[in-house]
Amino acid sequence: MQVTKTVVLKLKKSDQSIPKTMERYTKGMNFASKVVYENGEPMSSTKLQELTYKHLREDIGLLSQMSCNVARQVSGTYKTLQEQVENGKTEWQKSEFSPTNIKFSYGRDYKISKEKLSISTLDGRKEYEIINYDYAEQYFSEEWKYLASELVKHRDGEYYFHLSCEKEVEEKPIEEASNFMGIDVGINYLAVGTTTDKNQAFLGGGKAKDLRNTYEKMRKRLQSKGTFSAYKRLKALSGKEKRLMEQLNHEVSKEIVEFAKEEGVDVIGMEDLTDMREETKVRKENRYNHDSWAFRQLQKFIEYKAIERGIRVEYVDPENTSKTCSRCGHISRNNRDGLDFVCEECGYELHADLNGARNIEHRVRDFRHDLESQGSRQPPDVDGVEATSATASRGAEPQTSS
Ligand SMILES: [Zn+2]
Repeated sequence: MQVTKTVVLKLKKSDQSIPKTMERYTKGMNFASKVVYENGEPMSSTKLQELTYKHLREDIGLLSQMSCNVARQVSGTYKTLQEQVENGKTEWQKSEFSPTNIKFSYGRDYKISKEKLSISTLDGRKEYEIINYDYAEQYFSEEWKYLASELVKHRDGEYYFHLSCEKEVEEKPIEEASNFMGIDVGINYLAVGTTTDKNQAFLGGGKAKDLRNTYEKMRKRLQSKGTFSAYKRLKALSGKEKRLMEQLNHEVSKEIVEFAKEEGVDVIGMEDLTDMREETKVRKENRYNHDSWAFRQLQKFIEYKAIERGIRVEYVDPENTSKTCSRCGHISRNNRDGLDFVCEECGYELHADLNGARNIEHRVRDFRHDLESQGSRQPPDVDGVEATSATASRGAEPQTSS
């Protein structure tokens, strides 16, 4: 399976060559756009190149490669437009481009390393230093192939390189999967994961809660003031809290996917929180409007990091995952005692989040079995899988009190 990714990198410093090139490039785009528009229907990039190349080179003064990129890009834009016209979503119309983006082809008019971007400008080949973020480091390994990418002027007035890259990952067909992991996202631990072999990881414990409490206090204080400047500071504060939360989510997702990789997990299951039900994630006293987006963000981060490493991700029905006993299947609200899960039926005790994660793991495993019973494929040693989960209990149970 092909994974593609856009990595946004900021240029340390730009110069006049960039806006100048963008300006001219856009002029070329708009010229080519007019040609296709007047044609009344899309045309191939080869045809468009034939019709525009001379003008783009000689009158507008674009470089040869840029002129080809213009034709390809504009031709693509109108093909997309045509599809939308056919779906009745819009009408045939002229596309206008503004000088905020310019596309480069890898190897032909851009090259990139961890530190430097080299691009063709109207003033010749130029090198720009880039700010390489920690998370972006991984995209500079050999397994990634670079694609046509864009230099973009953001609204802050700075220039960013949107590096598109792809790599081939081998994803096991779900029918052949034998090791599953359920991940429960929540406020006590940001993520609790448990595998079919019952090996488990508790990650981000307390951190999200601390962050939330700190900001909650500051928020309350500012809210009680009720002045305009307090309101402005409140907004800034929520932006900052969001960024810190996002950072935490990045760290935790990275760790849990690494754990899954070490454990040889084939499929990760998580709860489908798209219509989060009342009883699922956020208990009333914990209700906090930031929780739901933060959980979903964490899941998204886990999802894309997992896919990049060849681990499949499935979402399962979240109903009763926190109220069901992961040993005997008994469902009751009374099974919960704060952070502890104590089954009123069979007496099984464990950390409530771990119990949730186990139920998610069961569900994603069942999902695999459902696919098998629906499909024509021969189930590969289902018995082996069942035996593993019934007999193995290697990982140590965590302390239920915290
Ligand atoms: Zn039970």
